[in-house]
Amino acid sequence: MSRKNRPYDFYDTTSSVCTTCLRQVEAKILIKDGQVFMDKWCPAHGTERVLMADDADYYRLAREVYVKRPEMPEHFSTAMQYGCPYDCGLCPDHMQHSCLTVLEITDHCNLRCPVCYADSGPERLTHKPLAVVEQMLDAIVKNEGEPDVVQLSGGEPTLHPDFFAILDAARARPIKHLMINTNGIRLAQEPDFAARLAEYGRGIEIYLQFDSLRGEVHQALRGADLTRIRREALEACNRHKLSTTLVVTLKRGLNDGEIGDIIQFGLTQPCVRGVTLQPIQDAGRNTDFESARHRLTVSEIRRRIAEQSGVFTLDDVVPVPCNPDTLAMAYALKLGDTVTPLTRHLGPDVLLAGDANTIVFERDPALKAQLFKLFSTNHSPDSQASCLSDLLCCLPKIDAPALSYENVFRVLIVQFMDAQNLDIRALKKSCIHMVQPDGRMIPFESHNLFYRDERQQTLQQIRAEIDAATLARRQVFRVHPVS
Ligand code: SF4
Ligand code: SF4
Repeated sequence: MSRKNRPYDFYDTTSSVCTTCLRQVEAKILIKDGQVFMDKWCPAHGTERVLMADDADYYRLAREVYVKRPEMPEHFSTAMQYGCPYDCGLCPDHMQHSCLTVLEITDHCNLRCPVCYADSGPERLTHKPLAVVEQMLDAIVKNEGEPDVVQLSGGEPTLHPDFFAILDAARARPIKHLMINTNGIRLAQEPDFAARLAEYGRGIEIYLQFDSLRGEVHQALRGADLTRIRREALEACNRHKLSTTLVVTLKRGLNDGEIGDIIQFGLTQPCVRGVTLQPIQDAGRNTDFESARHRLTVSEIRRRIAEQSGVFTLDDVVPVPCNPDTLAMAYALKLGDTVTPLTRHLGPDVLLAGDANTIVFERDPALKAQLFKLFSTNHSPDSQASCLSDLLCCLPKIDAPALSYENVFRVLIVQFMDAQNLDIRALKKSCIHMVQPDGRMIPFESHNLFYRDERQQTLQQIRAEIDAATLARRQVFRVHPVS
């Protein structure tokens, strides 16, 4: 009798949820023909196979090399009662503090985009009262001490009637970096608005929706041609020296061929500190989304950056150690018109030795020191001498300590998992959390799956089932204790 082999390597087990019923299911991670798949099985809805990465080597690099000890928040808000992902949070089983906390201050918006995880629009009119927002800011500070990054979001946060009072409240707390997640309409249309934002000085960043340089892509993702709005918003940010990140929602076949153009465009804009690429997540309103056609994995986007940007190679786009499954980054030094990729010189040893887990590495003093050391002309690690000499001969003489945030350009890939590709092992490392009015911090992914609006009804039903099963288990155990 000849034994048969399976046509794949069995790499690991994890758990996920069934895409149909959202109940927790077992999952296997398989590697086949250089690609990584997750196989799930639900007793009620059968099997599913999901592509997790199209580059098994990169996936293994993220899983096996870029592993860092979890950094804890200062406070957990919920207990472990129903199991992950039904206990958010953060519950004590979570494995990463909040690198970035999202604070949704309104559900109102002046657009109604076909793609919006918050399902926002003009018809939604609820603004969180200022006092509630202040409580939420306090909760973030209680959890984090000195939060790395807080992002005001919505809806469209700039439409909140107390928007500037909220900025004042945020600035009055020890928050290192404050982002405003905006579609840019107020920046483009109200000259005074950008001027007033600029009065807050450094430490404020505009997180500008910027999906494309083409009108038809805006139509598809935002329901309107926003080309002029984007240009005018950026002009305002440049005029008032407002640090800006361009945020691109990526949909395969729509704008994934434009990644390089957007990075190149960003490099020409003095106010732009980087580009964040977010593959589309099936959450909230997601018109015409077909998973097989439109989904992009981190490894695919990494390759497109290398193919299209003309700046970064594959070696420059590395996993972010705090959550390497879903985050990748490439850093470059920008000096005038010269752009020099940095990340290839910051190997895992340097990145894993950083004092703190955070996705804004230029805010990490230890890493910043490493970076400056790397670029001080007469001091470099021997192992990097040859590539550094190549590098330094291309650069003007550098006075490293004079480098600042303005000289750093970063490209981030930020993947948010949805029901289909949820790997609960990776979810436990999620470092982008949504603060709630009651003080809970809920990972972005589980928030969109279980904790947003009417989705909480499904969560309550699942919790009731778990309660019933736990009760039954206890009763059986009482009658037939294990000897
Ligand atoms: S995702 Fe994190 S906070 Fe939520 S239940 Fe799982 S471990 Fe707890
Ligand atoms: S994606 Fe942003 S701009 Fe579009 S409807 Fe949602 S909140 Fe508004």
